[in-house]
Amino acid sequence: MRLVTFQTTDGSVRPGAMASSGIVDLVATDATLPGSVREILAANLVARAAAAAASPKAVHVASAKLLAPVLDPDKIICIGLNYRDHAIESGMAIPKEPIVFSKFNTALVGPEAEIRLPAVSQSVDYEAELVAVIGREGRDIALAEAMQYVAGYTVGHDVSARDWQLQKEGKQWLLGKTFDTFAPIGPALVTADEVHDVHRLGIRLRLNGRTMQESTTEQLIFRIDQIVAYLSQVMTLRPGDLIFTGTPPGVGFARKPPVFLKPGDVCEVEIDGLGCLRNTCVAG
Ligand code: MN
Repeated sequence: MRLVTFQTTDGSVRPGAMASSGIVDLVATDATLPGSVREILAANLVARAAAAAASPKAVHVASAKLLAPVLDPDKIICIGLNYRDHAIESGMAIPKEPIVFSKFNTALVGPEAEIRLPAVSQSVDYEAELVAVIGREGRDIALAEAMQYVAGYTVGHDVSARDWQLQKEGKQWLLGKTFDTFAPIGPALVTADEVHDVHRLGIRLRLNGRTMQESTTEQLIFRIDQIVAYLSQVMTLRPGDLIFTGTPPGVGFARKPPVFLKPGDVCEVEIDGLGCLRNTCVAG
């Protein structure tokens, strides 16, 4: 199933399912379902939501804007330097343990939303990423069981202000990664049962139609189960938590000459089977 969060013309925000017939309003179809995708995951009601979406009585939404499929995660966790080909391209050593940073919820936006380029940065860059969405609460999760904690996947864009990421005191990455609008995700949360092999998906980013990143998730250094098990040694993972899993080669700052985002630029991140996430840059 493809879970979405949509906003109707009257401003109400609700969970939905993307079907071939259009967007199904899950709560209007089954009033026992909770009012957000995160709560559907937390209450273990994905099967019930799928039944509602497939029901002949499914209520469709005439006109709706898609928002981030999970709007209110407890955490947004990101893994750095996690593609073998990107590490080689950058001349960096293959990390022995995951490099971890985070973003705040104020960075989260959905498909077609604007990426605001802040006046205080001169070097905002793009990063195509696969995002894993946690489906069950867990801590100290065994590697062999880790995939059972993943509800599904979505497409993400780890927008990065390189000057704030790499040139500030203490080598902190956080601020450069969490400007408002710097975490677009979507269009849908594709449940894990619909993804044949998450470690064999083509991933690419187009900037104004030109392919800038092109790789596959086979290049992931730390795979989804390893990341989940690793993180859960430290923190309780909760339903709806988002894990950005790293970016393949071709980012702007590593190019000669460098390429940075400017107002009017259109970014499209596409992952096989998960969809295409399109956002336009504006002056911030
Ligand atoms: Mn990244």
